[in-house]
Amino acid sequence: MAMKRGCTQCGDCLDVCPLFRLYRREEYSPKGKRLLMEPLDGWGAGETPLPWEKIRALSRLCAGCGRCGRQCARKLSTAELLADLRSKHPDWSRFIWNIWIRRAGPLWPLAGRIASLVPAIGPQGLRSSLETARALLPQRAVLPWLRIRPGRAVAPEAPVAIFSGCTARYARPEWTAKAEKLLRRWGYELADGGGFGCCGGTLHHAGLFEWEAEARRKNIETWRALGRPAVAVFCASCKHGLDAYAAEGDMDAEEAALWKSRVRGLADFLAAPVAEITPEAPARPGYHEPCHWEGRDPDKPFLRALLPGLTQGRELCCGMGGILKMSAPDVSSALGRRCLEGFPDCGAVVTGCGGCALQLASVAPPGLTVRHWLDVVETQ
Ligand code: SF4
Ligand code: SF4
Repeated sequence: MAMKRGCTQCGDCLDVCPLFRLYRREEYSPKGKRLLMEPLDGWGAGETPLPWEKIRALSRLCAGCGRCGRQCARKLSTAELLADLRSKHPDWSRFIWNIWIRRAGPLWPLAGRIASLVPAIGPQGLRSSLETARALLPQRAVLPWLRIRPGRAVAPEAPVAIFSGCTARYARPEWTAKAEKLLRRWGYELADGGGFGCCGGTLHHAGLFEWEAEARRKNIETWRALGRPAVAVFCASCKHGLDAYAAEGDMDAEEAALWKSRVRGLADFLAAPVAEITPEAPARPGYHEPCHWEGRDPDKPFLRALLPGLTQGRELCCGMGGILKMSAPDVSSALGRRCLEGFPDCGAVVTGCGGCALQLASVAPPGLTVRHWLDVVETQ
């Protein structure tokens, strides 16, 4: 992915960066990182003005939220700068993240069971890792807050394939089942999306560009083999990863435009919904907007129309941050806790991203439930 250069140190990105907002340390901000690291792009290990250990420690501290690039007048993405640096200067966390994402998915629930047996003691980083692993255990079903159905006959395009993503595939298969049920209720014919794999977004963030490219190629081949159907996505981070395919050169311009138009958030497929709110719905439900919807969140208007009391938090990042979770778990958890402080009066929070749902559930205090919205919606 091409990177624009030339930070002017204007500081406009400071207050959108969740790390800077949490720690108020300028070297954690996109501005500070650019000052220290922008000249390093293209330099080899051992050629840096700062010791590489210090560069590496700083380069780990990014949630990959993308807020800096959207805020910057020059569209400088510090997440991209750091991903590029990681790709040029590999370390243990990149190696383990690669195995965790590409090979270990079927073992995620087992990791959750093991973590649930380990006492919550030891350094904060270890406790944070255990919290995250426990969130991979199967979750208890909740009674629905909403029973929804199409309010009028819609003319569904056919067919639609569901892109489940890693979290649903390995830890929350009930999300895929619910998405299938909803799409069928809306009259869609389903194509088998079981051949889709990881979107590759988290591999990109970790600087694992070769594996990201492989994931992308496999998903595009699967889509072509299915006859280029519409693709329904219920995870904002997956959607973010899939959107990037159109610019990567695996498709010609016509096919890339088709891909962009066909890959959409699940809520976009559920036109004209009407809902019955059940007694289980909290009086003040919270909604966490995932950073990776990039301001084009289809879930928020969908849910707001159905659940008028829906309250948005302070629009903070959940802190999942992909490889941040592995290389600085205590920082990731601190971001998650700060995010949940933005819902002071809510007994339950829903979101539309697999990563956000797992992350926020892992750090939620007793009495606060965090779920994907698919968990609280039923269809008649
Ligand atoms: S990254 Fe962009 S917004 Fe941030 S200090 Fe540099 S030029 Fe300004
Ligand atoms: S991607 Fe997010 S966490 Fe990373 S530097 Fe930019 S604003 Fe900060």
